[in-house]
Amino acid sequence: MDFGFVSTKELEEFREEVRTFIEEHAEKTSVVPPDPNKRDLEMWNKGRENEKLLGAKGWFAPGYPKEYGGGGLDIDRCVILAEEFDKVREERRWWGYTEVSTIMTGGIVSQGTEEQKKKYLTKQLTSEWYGFQCFTEPEAGTDEASMKATAIRDGDVYVVNGTKVFVGHIPPPGRPDFLYWLAVTNPDGPRHQNISAFFIPGDLPGIRYAHLDLIAAEGHKWEVICENVRCPADRLIGVENKGWLVGQATLDAEHGGGGAVVPRNKLILHLIDYCKTAKRNGKLVREDPRYRDLLVQLYIEYQVGRLWGFRNFAMAQGNIPRVRYTGTQTALHGKLLSPKVGKVIMEILGAHCLIDNPDLRALEGEIELAIRLADVTHIAGTPETQKIQMSRALGLGRSAIQAMQASQASR
Ligand SMILES: Cc1cc2nc3c(=O)[nH]c(=O)nc-3n(C[C@H](O)[C@H](O)[C@H](O)COP(=O)(O)OP(=O)(O)OC[C@H]3O[C@@H](n4cnc5c(N)ncnc54)[C@H](O)[C@@H]3O)c2cc1C
Repeated sequence: MDFGFVSTKELEEFREEVRTFIEEHAEKTSVVPPDPNKRDLEMWNKGRENEKLLGAKGWFAPGYPKEYGGGGLDIDRCVILAEEFDKVREERRWWGYTEVSTIMTGGIVSQGTEEQKKKYLTKQLTSEWYGFQCFTEPEAGTDEASMKATAIRDGDVYVVNGTKVFVGHIPPPGRPDFLYWLAVTNPDGPRHQNISAFFIPGDLPGIRYAHLDLIAAEGHKWEVICENVRCPADRLIGVENKGWLVGQATLDAEHGGGGAVVPRNKLILHLIDYCKTAKRNGKLVREDPRYRDLLVQLYIEYQVGRLWGFRNFAMAQGNIPRVRYTGTQTALHGKLLSPKVGKVIMEILGAHCLIDNPDLRALEGEIELAIRLADVTHIAGTPETQKIQMSRALGLGRSAIQAMQASQASR
């Protein structure tokens, strides 16, 4: 496959416009801590300002239609934005997200009504709203359909009760604008056909937020408890009792279905660079053939993930025919790679990789963070469940037939 980017004068002018914008709003030096848990609310708010600036230009959601607040830009310009923002993020000079999360938009784009999209998708694409994805419960993670949270219709509101865990990113004492919340709306209904999705306003009476102190995460994490929260009925997303489809569309996006122009995790490249000059027991790491082999193996795995990201992107854009298992395959590859990276770091750098002292740590804390994150592979589904999803997509096993029957029954 040829992944070369064919540029034109107009595209180079656009790239220049993007670079000028970035330099106007980025920090002059590397100040963004690699560990999102070390970012405080003041830093977060700087990010929100940047996100809103991007939203105003249509660059926070460049490929989405203009009528919903997106940029309506072609693929080439989307790629340019992704590449240029990747560079400034790599330099740790940019606060905030640089693109809307498909984890938050996948469900409403796929299952939302026109009216819901106009009202609520727009708020996300312009970055006016920031929300928590509230799916996981203390007793329902992988087995999402066993959720206990309820939302029972009472006139023009739904009365919401339940607890969600491991959600959000905002540093305390920040609060989200909305909760993307799944709940049982028909307690007597059959499994998968009794759930609805909501964008609950984040400040309603009865919502409590408890900050979770996790060893490692991709941001600050929260437990959110709803007690008799009266959520306006027009905050329903999709159709009542068809929330399973909304959730599935979200997970499809979350499992890498949309692909990626730039690889998400460049740690392997940073590690290789670091090892060019790092020493172990007085000897240069790069001179040890065993360490070199380990690093080359990681590099190959990195390239596999990068190319699959491109391939999935091309499929999602309709450039090549879509195959159903590829998003999950890429997510699974990343999840299986993460502990391997951790082991290689441990072997090459020894105890040094555990140090978080600002004067002594490797790669300004990136290595120590990678070690803590190495086994956190359950975000958006554990490797075991990714394998089950892949086999379903391939039509393998009894569960594939059951899933097909469930999905046909829910239509
Ligand atoms: C850092 C972090 C960020 C997160 N962010 C969010 C978020 O923003 N929003 C949100 O809603 N959730 C979030 N989560 C929750 C995440 O989605 C869940 O942890 C995940 O779905 C697994 O659920 P669980 O932790 O309850 O584990 P369980 O489902 O209890 O699984 C426990 C073990 O059993 C295995 N297992 C379970 N079922 C099967 C099966 N059928 N076959 C084989 N093995 C099985 C699992 O693979 C795992 O090893 C986050 C989690 C973490 C750690």
